Amino acid sequence: MIITQKKPIEELMAMLEGATKVGLVGCGNCATACQTGGEKDLAEMKEYLEANGKQVVGTAIPDECCQKLLVKKEMKAFKDLDVDAIVCMACGDGAQTVADNVKLPVYPSNNTMFLGQVERVGVFNEACRMCGDCVVGTTGGICPITQCAKSLVNGPCGGQKNGKCEVNPDNDCAWIKIYNRLVELGQEDKIAVTRADKGYAAFSYPRKISLKEGK
Ligand code: SF4
Ligand code: SF4
Repeated sequence: MIITQKKPIEELMAMLEGATKVGLVGCGNCATACQTGGEKDLAEMKEYLEANGKQVVGTAIPDECCQKLLVKKEMKAFKDLDVDAIVCMACGDGAQTVADNVKLPVYPSNNTMFLGQVERVGVFNEACRMCGDCVVGTTGGICPITQCAKSLVNGPCGGQKNGKCEVNPDNDCAWIKIYNRLVELGQEDKIAVTRADKGYAAFSYPRKISLKEGK
């Protein structure tokens, strides 16, 4: 899931300077789970904006704000409305998908934080940094890129103290976790696997995947 957090409201208000009539677009999936772009969040945003001199002229919550076709359909609701700007209450991907479908300024109300797991309602753990070459098959299902503060792929830095990371002692050392997990799985031999350093020169942004074109 893409984890988002609300921006400070002053930031959004600064972006909205000069805009009076505003449309709100949320997301029925990740941003709803993150409590940043679901029905309740849009209702609260509407109340705040209207108490602060804006007029909310329409709202939409596509099931997923990153789905171009879904968003295109939802944005038709704004077509005949007099709108100065859209506030997108999804992730950065959603904001761009909305922007692709309207000839209006689109302002994000959220910061997009990471790809994460839902531990429980309202608690999220960063899990994958989308490196494009997954190595967790040799690391006991634990991502060294994300869970090690230095993203080391071939073992620990040696700085851990009492099993905690030297960079952020709130976290367990990823490589101790990886070692323990491999022992548990009877795969200790994998600790010695040499993994290629993560050079990010192998691709340039933006990346594209097309199943149809086989790439
Ligand atoms: S190695 Fe880590 S960052 Fe890379 S794809 Fe796998 S989980 Fe994601
Ligand atoms: S202490 Fe462990 S988790 Fe922290 S940077 Fe070193 S190897 Fe990575």
